[in-house]
Amino acid sequence: MNLRENISIAPFTTFKIGGRAKFFCTVKNVQELKDAVSFAKNKNIPFFILGGGSNILVNDNGYSGLVIKMDIKGIQYDGQNVTAMAGEGWDTFVGETIDAGLYGLENLSSIPGTVGASPVQNIGAYGIEVGNKIVSVDVLDTSDMQLKTLDQKECEFGYRDSIFKKNKNRYVIFGVRFALNKDPQINIEYKDLREYFAKNNFATENITTKDVRNAVIAVRANKLPDWKVWGTAGSFFKNPIISKDHFDTLKKQYSDLPGYPEVDGGVKVSLAWILDNLCNVKGLCEGNACVYEKHALVLVSKAGANSSDVVTLARKLMNLVKEKTNIDIEAEVEWVN
Ligand code: NAP
Repeated sequence: MNLRENISIAPFTTFKIGGRAKFFCTVKNVQELKDAVSFAKNKNIPFFILGGGSNILVNDNGYSGLVIKMDIKGIQYDGQNVTAMAGEGWDTFVGETIDAGLYGLENLSSIPGTVGASPVQNIGAYGIEVGNKIVSVDVLDTSDMQLKTLDQKECEFGYRDSIFKKNKNRYVIFGVRFALNKDPQINIEYKDLREYFAKNNFATENITTKDVRNAVIAVRANKLPDWKVWGTAGSFFKNPIISKDHFDTLKKQYSDLPGYPEVDGGVKVSLAWILDNLCNVKGLCEGNACVYEKHALVLVSKAGANSSDVVTLARKLMNLVKEKTNIDIEAEVEWVN
């Protein structure tokens, strides 16, 4: 499993921040994954599964355990079902399914990271959540070191949430099985997509799945920082879900506040809107970490930024939002230390 010591983690993350891992290995198959987890257990040290490194912030002091870089690859088609191994890149996988004539993941185009990370926070965009497309997830259960398959219900998917997030490190995902469609079902209800197609003079009935993928890629490229230029982990915070009463109170004060009703009676509010319109934080910096000019939910790091710059900035935003709206916001990005 290619075990190495004292390896810098920053280059493996899109934030390009973080100290060294005491131990680091890359696993290319399930046996190597088991060996790696056993190594950490025998040494009584923590381990951390690294996918694309696109949703983590690593402490400058590094990580005193074993970082396991997930590199198990492979994609298998079985009619409308497709199984992808955890180390496959998410967006390449989405593109491949569309090229294979399967639909359902196109709204989730251009999200960085790996297939294995997708169920953990139940990635979602433009009205589609990956959990709804997942049949089952193959895992190593580190509590008894058995290989198991969890069906969709057992994954306990919620908004940017799952059993994998709740039981950190109990389950290591090595494969995900998706149920896709042969008949395209276009979903362009989100404003950004509707506007894209209107601006580019598409007739709704002619829009293909590939058009939707291209639209999502274009919209995201316009709104989000270029990973090659900036250090960033994309949206740093989750959009909060608040009670209807809380929303109604805020709406009296801020009549333009966008809110979207949830099935459980709560209301999801746009945090970017709150940050832009109530907290006035676009372009705000702490040290070398800044709020991205084009999208306030996104934090970016400039050369020389360290994890404490990002944490200080994030705390400042949390306090401002609390002050203005009495909402406690949560980070979507995982803190590794
Ligand atoms: P946006 O489209 O400006 O939306 C902001 C907020 O409003 C989100 O909470 C979104 O819910 C909600 N919203 C907007 N239109 C809605 C509609 N028609 N029905 C229900 N809810 C609606 O957000 P953005 O920041 O530019 O991001 C674009 C998309 O990418 C969003 O769907 C966002 O969630 C997603 N995204 C996902 C991840 C991730 O999975 N890690 C990271 C970054 C962005 P939803 O969040 O439920 O869509």
